[in-house]
Amino acid sequence: MRPIFDFTSYLFDLDGTIYVGGKALPGAVDTIQTLRDRDKKIMFATNTTVYTREEVRDKLIQLGIECERDEIVTALSVAGMYFRHYAPGAKVLLIGSEAMTEEMRLSEVDTTVDPTLATHVLVGLDRSFDFEKLTVGMNAVRSGALLIAANPDPFCPLDTGVIPDTWALVRAIETASMLQTHDIIGKPSRYYASYVLNQLDCRPEECLMVGDRLETDVELGNSTGMYTALVLSGADSEESIARTGIEPDYVWASIGAIAEEARLQPSSQVKEQI
Ligand SMILES: [Mg+2]
Repeated sequence: MRPIFDFTSYLFDLDGTIYVGGKALPGAVDTIQTLRDRDKKIMFATNTTVYTREEVRDKLIQLGIECERDEIVTALSVAGMYFRHYAPGAKVLLIGSEAMTEEMRLSEVDTTVDPTLATHVLVGLDRSFDFEKLTVGMNAVRSGALLIAANPDPFCPLDTGVIPDTWALVRAIETASMLQTHDIIGKPSRYYASYVLNQLDCRPEECLMVGDRLETDVELGNSTGMYTALVLSGADSEESIARTGIEPDYVWASIGAIAEEARLQPSSQVKEQI
């Protein structure tokens, strides 16, 4: 088994890995500090389509985790990169939150509300999704716009219960237009992985992806040659590994495993060895 501190870069899912609801999971703050003390590169990877990177950063800081905006990647920041690199000149019709509008503005992506002018329709979680938005989205796709799902998440668990997420809305537009999704942006897509590796400026095998979902977090890492750790503090259990056939390199009760390892091997000792 490769030692935990043998990587240059660490990529963390957020919900179910770093925090649940408004609370940091035990060991999360210590683990991030441990990695900072060892000069590791860190990124936080979420599939959210309703918060900007700035808002995610504010939340982490409130939980006691200092970080920069550029250390955060969301489905929306990857979508911005996607349009700039893979569809220059795109005119994107947005069905999503205010955060989607803001992140497209920051990425200098051209947007339109006219379904006949749109080259793409980007869909994220939209709590005001209604018949009118479905009609506009359907007409844009029928007019030739490519349907882009910001993430493949069918539902989103909240403290108050479960609500429909991006994929449910994408399917409504697919059904009405009788045309299929052209691309999916969020974890575990190759666009997401390449954005992250580019930001971290590292090779896949130098990066450890840590997350609570096999089909998004671990799949993202495994499919691109990163090392992967499943934490059992969120969505998936050890039984999920047999069900999905997706095998992580490490399985930990929680992210606190990294801080625990550091107690067994203090960083002063690490520096002496070097
Ligand atoms: Mg998660």
